[in-house]
Formats: sequence, structure tokens, C-alpha cells
Amino acid sequence: MTLLHDRFPEADLPHVALGTRPTPVRRLEGWGGEVWLKDESVFGDGDWGGNKVRKLEWIIPEAHRRGRRTLFTVGGIGTHWGLAAALYGREHGLRTVLGLVDQPVDDHVRDQLHRLEASGALVHRYPSVGRLKLAAPGLLWRHREGLRLPYYLPAGGSSPVGTLGYVDAGLEIAEQVRSGALPEPAVVVTAVGSAGTAAGLTVGLALGGLSSQVLGIVVNDAFRLDAEVVATLANGTVELLQRRGATIDHVVHESDLTTTDAYLGQTYGATTPEGVAALESARADGLELEPVYTAKAFAAVRDVASRTAGPVLVLNTHGPRGPGAIS
Ligand SMILES: *Cc1c(COP(=O)(O)O)cnc(C)c1O
Repeated sequence: MTLLHDRFPEADLPHVALGTRPTPVRRLEGWGGEVWLKDESVFGDGDWGGNKVRKLEWIIPEAHRRGRRTLFTVGGIGTHWGLAAALYGREHGLRTVLGLVDQPVDDHVRDQLHRLEASGALVHRYPSVGRLKLAAPGLLWRHREGLRLPYYLPAGGSSPVGTLGYVDAGLEIAEQVRSGALPEPAVVVTAVGSAGTAAGLTVGLALGGLSSQVLGIVVNDAFRLDAEVVATLANGTVELLQRRGATIDHVVHESDLTTTDAYLGQTYGATTPEGVAALESARADGLELEPVYTAKAFAAVRDVASRTAGPVLVLNTHGPRGPGAIS
């Protein structure tokens, strides 16, 4: 049972628990203001954690409900999402087909590719998003089972179903505020790679009665990720809840959240000097970030904390652990 089920007992919301909730919160020192951390890295089974696991808790049972045995999804070659889908899908009887687009290769990405190979995912690589889009219908057809096509999931698992994971996380933050584990954040900072995390949080924080503003740090330039896009996904998720029988009439407006691409750097996957500096400060705090998402979010935290009167909460959404994890 999740907070989402507690909140909407009337709704039909298939779910499989893949992590332990709530994830811990703690104060961080030395980030230029009152900064708190919510550590999503520990959400998962011990081998692979982080924000994608919360999405899979809703996506995997949805695939079963639709009678599918194959997931098909897309991303960059360093995709955390594709790896999480492959690892957790396999444990739950699903195989994963990945259409991946090349991105700058650093040690982190190389590591990811090795783990993808080991995960049993069926990997197809393309030099550009355009080429992947051309190939996608053929890939779906090729990996059909009987007349059933694979269950298609957008990049990052950011469908309305996947986004439920962060609606629940937003409710969890509200619960932690209520219990005194955390002061009410003025701002909640998260990296935005495909918008599901930011969209879900926007809905969940509001449902939980908090007036915290989501600030999304855009790390991906492969598609539009402005406040309008996030709000549209948030509203799509509210509509999904309504279709599943939840009594909810919440509407998210573009002005309910902010996104910025000021920390993106040259492109998705390219490192930035501020990001690398944030990564190093975080390491001194015992926090293991990566350069693509969380380093850029934490680079923003210092600036945001210095201009925000109230507490700032930042999510560590990155979570590989276990034997293959980067140290
Ligand atoms: C995918 C990812 C994000 C971004 O989440 P979205 O829901 O895709 O916007 C942030 N941090 C890490 C480590 C990720 O892997």
C-alpha cells in the first residue's frame, strides 16, 4: 500500500512495491542556505535504485494488466531508465527492448552500456533521434509476440502511469513535513530529463497540502521540457487517476512550477564546470552524484538556496548501488 492508495481507496491502482518508503531526508551543510536532501538513491532493491524505480512500481503491473510480456522504450545510450526497466522488468517476467540514441561517451556512459548488455535487454542503437523514430515502428513489429506489440513507454518512463510514482513521492514529502522530519520546503529542486519526476511532484505536493514550488533543472535538450510540458503531463496524470476512479479535481497550471535550462550546458550528457564542482562538493558530504542529471540539479541548489528565504529540498534521484555501481 502506498500513500496514493491511502488517499484514493476508491481508485483501481495496480502497484508492485520495489523499494522501501519513505526515503530518508536530512539537512545538508555548506550549500549556501537551508538545504535539505531527500535521498531517492536508496529506493530500489539494493542493486539499482533511484527515481526510475518509483515509476516502474506502476508501469510493471500495468504491462501485466494489458497482457504484455515485452516493454519497448527509448533513451540515450547511458539511459538509467532503460537499465532500470530491463532489471526490474526481468524480475517480473517482462523482457525489455531498447531503442537507444548515441550521446557523448564518458566513463559513466561506458559503464552503463556494459550493464545494459549484462541486463538481458535487447539493445538497438541509432546515431540520432530522427533515425530512431524512423526505425521504431519496425522495432515494435519485430518484437511482437503473436499479434501483441510490446508495451511502449516514452523516454524516462514519463507516461502518466509512470508519473504516479512521483505523485506518491510528493505525498511522502508532505507526510514527512507533517511528522516533523522536514520543514515545509519553499522550493523542491529536481533534475528534469523527461518530466515525470517534476510533474508527479507538482501534483503530489499540492495533494499533500504543501505550497512548495517545484523547480525543475532541465538536463535534456532532445525535447521541450518547459513548465507547459510538465504541467500537461501532470494534468494527464490527474486524468489517469480520474479514469481509475479517484475522486480528484485538481488542475495544474503552468505557473505552478518553474523549469530552467540555465544548468544544461552544451547538451544532454555533456558535463558542465558548475556540475563537476557540485559533484565534488557532494562527494565531500558522502553523496554520490553523476554528471548527467544530479550534478546539474545540485549546481542549481547553491544559487537557489542563496536567493530563497525558506528551506530548499533537493532530490538525489541517482541510485545505482551494489557490485556494478560506480564508486
Ligand atoms: C531520469 C533521471 C532524472 C530525471 O527524471 P525525469 O523523470 O526523467 O525527468 C533525474 N536524475 C536521474 C539520476 C535520472 O536517471
